[in-house]
Amino acid sequence: MKGLAALGGSLALGRHAGAVAPVTDPTLAKFIHGLPKSEYHVHLEGTLEAEMKFALAKRNGMNLPFADVAAMKASYQYHDLPSFLAIYYDGMKVLQKEPDFYDLAYAYLAKAASQNVIYAEMFFDPQEHLKRGVTMADVIGGITRARRDAESKLGIRSQLILCFVRDLSAESAMATLDAALPFKADLVGVGLDSDEAGNPPEKFREHFAKARANGLKVTAHCDVDQTDTLKNIRTVLTDLKVDRIDHGGNIVQSTELVAIAKERGIYFTVCPTFSGTLRRTEKMPVDVVRAMLDAGLKVTISSDDPAYMGSEYIDGVLIRAVDRSRLSKAELIAMTRYGFEAAWLPEADKAAMIARLDAYVKSA
Ligand SMILES: [Zn+2]
Repeated sequence: MKGLAALGGSLALGRHAGAVAPVTDPTLAKFIHGLPKSEYHVHLEGTLEAEMKFALAKRNGMNLPFADVAAMKASYQYHDLPSFLAIYYDGMKVLQKEPDFYDLAYAYLAKAASQNVIYAEMFFDPQEHLKRGVTMADVIGGITRARRDAESKLGIRSQLILCFVRDLSAESAMATLDAALPFKADLVGVGLDSDEAGNPPEKFREHFAKARANGLKVTAHCDVDQTDTLKNIRTVLTDLKVDRIDHGGNIVQSTELVAIAKERGIYFTVCPTFSGTLRRTEKMPVDVVRAMLDAGLKVTISSDDPAYMGSEYIDGVLIRAVDRSRLSKAELIAMTRYGFEAAWLPEADKAAMIARLDAYVKSA
């Protein structure tokens, strides 16, 4: 989400994505599936599938205004960021208790593991849940329990990134951070998502500083084609000095910023399903992944909010990215490697994951 920048153009791309012929090379699709992968840009609430919404609503004694799953999915029609966010935030109201967050996180991790994701850093938006009276202990507790079970039962390792909902107040974000700090051992970082318009990254300067002082990493969404896009990218790169950037495709429009990102070794988590194009002109959109790779940037690919994007998880997203951005196999492998280098893990752990990748590539 929240990656929904350029929604007009990107939405068209996303909606048309179903009509785009998938990669027809079954050998490459099989290779992609088998690749040991990571994922850094997935909003847990964006993995809340319609089927689970009905199950959780039933468990929590809630009525949903849809006859069935098909009717709910048919309602996922949006034409701009606010209309998407309305559907997105409304949908997560079924998340009420600790087991709900457990089920949500476990379902995502099981799906990811089935597509050979071996490591994920997942976003969640506690502010939206606290607003409804859910406790931070239930939110983080349920997700953490799922993370542990998924690691022991499915072999997928994961960590958790708390996102500030940037269109809510700075005070609300600080209260959320304060409520989360007692659980900081279960978090790896903080991030910034939701509506960027009028909510520049410097609004969260103190929050990022406090998070860092508590040992957390910092990342931020820089959605595509936003007002002040390049200014915001500059702010996170040179002022707030984030550890990673989510999306950030417009950086290719500034050679100076590209140079700074390369100098700092910044990794970008790009979600081509929605923010796949820059609207440089209506007639000549710029392919974000292609342009960033050609600029020499370290791009990783993720699925963002798959439940709202045709239930397409990482394998499908990668297959489409290969097709759309004309990725070579070597580029695909390089991006997968970036995906492990970017992990907020000890170097030895990253090296072990990269060794798994190398072994797979050698044997495939
Ligand atoms: Zn996002």
